[in-house]
Amino acid sequence: MGKILDIKNKALENNVPIMQDEGINFICDYIKNNNVHKVLEIGSAVGYSAINFASVDDSVEVTTIERDINRYNEAVKNINDVGLNERITIINGDALETNIDGKYDLIFIDAAKSQYIKFFNKYKENLNSDGVIISDNLSFHGIVDDISLTHNRNTRQLVGKIKKYIDFLENNDEFDTTFYKLGDGVSVSKFKK
Ligand code: SAH
Ligand code: MG
Repeated sequence: MGKILDIKNKALENNVPIMQDEGINFICDYIKNNNVHKVLEIGSAVGYSAINFASVDDSVEVTTIERDINRYNEAVKNINDVGLNERITIINGDALETNIDGKYDLIFIDAAKSQYIKFFNKYKENLNSDGVIISDNLSFHGIVDDISLTHNRNTRQLVGKIKKYIDFLENNDEFDTTFYKLGDGVSVSKFKK
């Protein structure tokens, strides 16, 4: 669809960190193959991933949260342009201060990397018993596996936070997590059986 491609190209031109194709395809396939109807996304940016998820099937409804007002406004415009405003609900706010009702089949965490553990612990309350929490950017451009790729202090700190999140997932009593080296590194967490 041309409009979605336009949204993608504009985001890339403006350095908006949208999800890579591999990651998007992975989640869209997951939605298709696992009867996912309700998606909650933390970090909408300009609505690109939410629009992709809602385009998988007419039965998919997405709720997505974005704290940056400019990105939120652009996302609202993009969602209206593609005619998905009835199936995508976008909220402007900090996801750590927003309360969402109801249960979701898939929760996608793609916001501030330093807060992933907090997002996870807060939003697991909104997960259906057979739902999944998917997280993006766990390899952070390969730097998580090879810290020598950066000498930037802030980036190193961020990578430390991502490692803590991976550790949190690996040692979680409630969830089993599978890690995938696709896109920028994706994990899928499910309640232990
Ligand atoms: N999922 C989008 C990309 C999201 S980029 C896509 O693939 O198309 C990450 C976004 O998360 C940024 O726009 C940033 O403003 C937002 N964000 C970061 N921390 C947040 C928070 N605590 N609450 C809500 N949004 C947040
Ligand atoms: Mg991301």
